[in-house]
Amino acid sequence: MADCIFCKIGAHQIQAMVVYEDNEILAFRDINPQAPVHILVIPKKHYDSINEFCDTDAQLLGRLVVAGTKIARQEKLAERGYRLVLNTGVDGGQSVAHVHLHLMGGRSMHWPPG
Ligand code: 5GP
Ligand code: ZN
Repeated sequence: MADCIFCKIGAHQIQAMVVYEDNEILAFRDINPQAPVHILVIPKKHYDSINEFCDTDAQLLGRLVVAGTKIARQEKLAERGYRLVLNTGVDGGQSVAHVHLHLMGGRSMHWPPG
C-alpha cells in the first residue's frame, strides 16, 4: 500500500534495524521498545490486520510465528521465554495498519496486559 510505513520498511524504502529477512518476511527492532528486546515481524505483503487473513494465509501466519521463534533463539530469549503478540484493531491496541507480530523479551512480562 502506497502510504503504509511498514510496506516501505518491508521494501527497504525506509530504514530499520533489520534482524531477519526472507522472501516474504522482514523483522526489525521496534522504534519505541517496550522491553529490552522488542522486534516486529511483518509479512512484506500488506494486510491491514489479521482480520484479513483467510485459510490460504494460514501458512504465512505460521511462518511469521516460526520466524519469531528463530529470532527469539538468535536473541537468546528462548530459555527464559518471551511474548509474541498480534494487536488487532482499536480495542486490541493496534496503531499501525499492517500486520505485525511483536516479539518481546528480556524482562518478566505481566498478565493480564494493560
Ligand atoms: P501496534 O501498536 O500497532 O501493535 O504496534 C506498532 C509498533 O510499531 C509500535 O510498537 C511502534 O513503536 C512501532 N513503530 C511505529 N512506527 C515505526 C517505525 O517507523 N519504525 C519502527 N522500527 N517501528 C515503528
Ligand atoms: Zn503495508
